[in-house]
Amino acid sequence: MAITVVGSVAYDSIETPAGRKDRCLGGAATYFSLAASFFTDVRVIAVVGEDFGPDQEAVFHARGIDTRGIERAPGKSFFWEGSYLDNLNEAKTHATELNVFASFEPKIPEAYRDSDFLFLANIDPVLQRRVREQMPGVRLVAGDTMNYWIKDHRAALLEVLKGLDILLINDTEARMLADNNNLVQASRAVLALGPRTLVVKHGEYGATAFFSNRSFSPEGEYAEHMFRAPALPLEEVVDPTGAGDSFAGGFFGYLASSAAADDLNPAAFRRAMFYGSVMGSFAVERFGTERLQQLSRKQIDERFILFRELTHLD
Ligand code: AMP
Repeated sequence: MAITVVGSVAYDSIETPAGRKDRCLGGAATYFSLAASFFTDVRVIAVVGEDFGPDQEAVFHARGIDTRGIERAPGKSFFWEGSYLDNLNEAKTHATELNVFASFEPKIPEAYRDSDFLFLANIDPVLQRRVREQMPGVRLVAGDTMNYWIKDHRAALLEVLKGLDILLINDTEARMLADNNNLVQASRAVLALGPRTLVVKHGEYGATAFFSNRSFSPEGEYAEHMFRAPALPLEEVVDPTGAGDSFAGGFFGYLASSAAADDLNPAAFRRAMFYGSVMGSFAVERFGTERLQQLSRKQIDERFILFRELTHLD
């Protein structure tokens, strides 16, 4: 089951207690596709500027990711600058320059049309919606967003939420979206906006899935319930950038992988939550996409076992 993803492909300048990196390859769609590529075929839709070169594109190709949907436009690529000096769990944004994304008209390559899974990674909700509308036949749609869009692009975001099966956001964003500080109440309010399942990421504390009674069947034969996956306690977090997108890539990539896609049941979702946590835990070990670029499937499976041991009772 192939995944098509739309979202930012960017240059990031990042400062963390471990140091600083300027203009490294980043973007929500970049982290998502690298993480998901360990599980299934991934196809990207994005736009980049003249500053995006063969070295950046090679990062995608080394993982077998289809980049035919990455358009090149005159101008500069999306640029984001952020730091984590006070709190490793939450980025402080210093600059967001949409650049070529400001006038992007997403087009879906013919070769992407048979994708069963669609991921609307973090980007302008207007673009997320345009891609969603052009892929009406997909089996499962998940998406992400962030405070930047929740605050100032709310109406467009609410339209996107109506068409989502699964929304993945962090806890600050869930509270902001619902305007409610209690996470359980906030999750119920967010589920009422459209998504059948909500996955709330808690940075170094793991992630919680809130399943509505529509999560696994439109008839609502499963009761609403919650499931929490841990994060791995790490000696050093070098750079939290992309942890959320890597979580999403592991989570959705696992769901799309053939073993899970036949049977999207609660057990498959629980395993997907663990694979999400595994991929997030790798992403933060080095700056930018470095760790995901060097990873092997064997290391992923070994860490999955470690996660199991971390929480297994008997
Ligand atoms: P996260 O997984 O939440 O740490 O996402 C980090 C990535 O999101 C960075 O590589 C940024 O390039 C990208 N990003 C930051 N702000 C935005 C935005 N407003 N829209 C889309 N992508 C963004």
